[in-house]
Amino acid sequence: MDVVSFCSELIKRKSITPNDDGILDYVSEFLSSIGFETRILTFKSQDGTNVVKNLFAKYGHSRDKVLGFLGHLDVVPAGDGWNAFVAEQKDGCLIGRGVADMKGGAAAFCCAVAEYVKQDFNGTIEFFLTCDEEIGSFEGTQSLIKWAKENNELPNDCLIGEPSSDITVGDRIYAGHRGSMNVMVRAHGKQGHVAYSSQNSLTNLCRYIARMADYNWRYENKKFPKTKIEPTLLYTNNYAVNVVPDESSANINIRYGADYTSEELKKIFSQQAEDLNLELEFTVSGDSYYCESHLQDMLASSIQDVTGIQPKFSAEGGISDGRYMIQHCNIIEFGLCDATIHQKNEHVKISDLYTLEKIYVAFLKQYFA
Ligand SMILES: [Zn+2]
Repeated sequence: MDVVSFCSELIKRKSITPNDDGILDYVSEFLSSIGFETRILTFKSQDGTNVVKNLFAKYGHSRDKVLGFLGHLDVVPAGDGWNAFVAEQKDGCLIGRGVADMKGGAAAFCCAVAEYVKQDFNGTIEFFLTCDEEIGSFEGTQSLIKWAKENNELPNDCLIGEPSSDITVGDRIYAGHRGSMNVMVRAHGKQGHVAYSSQNSLTNLCRYIARMADYNWRYENKKFPKTKIEPTLLYTNNYAVNVVPDESSANINIRYGADYTSEELKKIFSQQAEDLNLELEFTVSGDSYYCESHLQDMLASSIQDVTGIQPKFSAEGGISDGRYMIQHCNIIEFGLCDATIHQKNEHVKISDLYTLEKIYVAFLKQYFA
């Protein structure tokens, strides 16, 4: 199967998260045609409102060497003003919502596997493909991994096909990710005339944001970038310039390496808020992780053989579903360039799709050698 044709078929299915629009059936039929056992697994949220389809597929029966491929086929909404679901080709690029994040990576791995399984090999390849990664992965990766655990189908090692490359395909591998936590901060004061007020909720809120931005975060584990906060939202209940607001709130996001856990960070955020009459609410997306394993050398040498590039290992990206798989097996994350993800006119170089497919074939050869 030609990887560009395959990826174009994936783009044409409007799998706006968490709807699959037939994309899982399409991939399932393809994998069946090359000898995989496939299962569409539908998981529901407890209240029944969220129903998500997933695909599990398996080739081989040996449990000694099981390589998983984890990825998602859902995409974020397209926005107006471009042809997001027609798979247009222009100036050597393939354009479409999800082509980089991450239908291109999934297509490249499917085509690489189709090429690889033509020969005999000893081991098992598994696919874990989901459709709700863009909205939290509850009925996707989390449920699928739980199912795999109960059914003894967890892999030993897992490649995640998210877009990890920077300028050119092969230049960056994600070996880990920073942790991420959101802190919703609510400040309370007393409404009053701006000329006489002494209890402006916004003053304390701004003081707190500045305090957290200037906080001296320790920095020991250099595999991760420095810990850093970013305020992302700011509200008050006030619309008049001569009134001070009694209620204000803000959201602060923090990205952190292995020097901190979310529990320690919660304590620091709380201590720093003590004198400011603030209420804090924490939402942890996931703590940081970093996976050193045999997959690193295999993938780096596969990339070097195909492209001549020496990839760098990084832990600086956004969080991924790897945070669920890392609890069960070795993981490594590698795919296309991330420059246009979630943007209008999302695109990748057509040549990058072929390169990625070749790298995945080289990796499969090394893995099962
Ligand atoms: Zn993605």
